[in-house]
Amino acid sequence: MAKTTAADRVFTEPNYGWCHWHKGTSGTAVLINIVEQQSGPGYRQYACAPCREQRGLVPYTKTP
Ligand SMILES: [Zn+2]
Repeated sequence: MAKTTAADRVFTEPNYGWCHWHKGTSGTAVLINIVEQQSGPGYRQYACAPCREQRGLVPYTKTP
């Protein structure tokens, strides 16, 4: 009988907390873009708050 523990419910996003623009960790990183590649799996680009401000990046979910 399987028991649901707190650990089972933790979802870890591999790229969460990483800013692809300054190439470092960040606590404010949000998804900016999902890059689809011709070959191989696509990947996600995240940017932190300062990089979004400096570069005028818009979070992926708010892109029309
Ligand atoms: Zn950044």
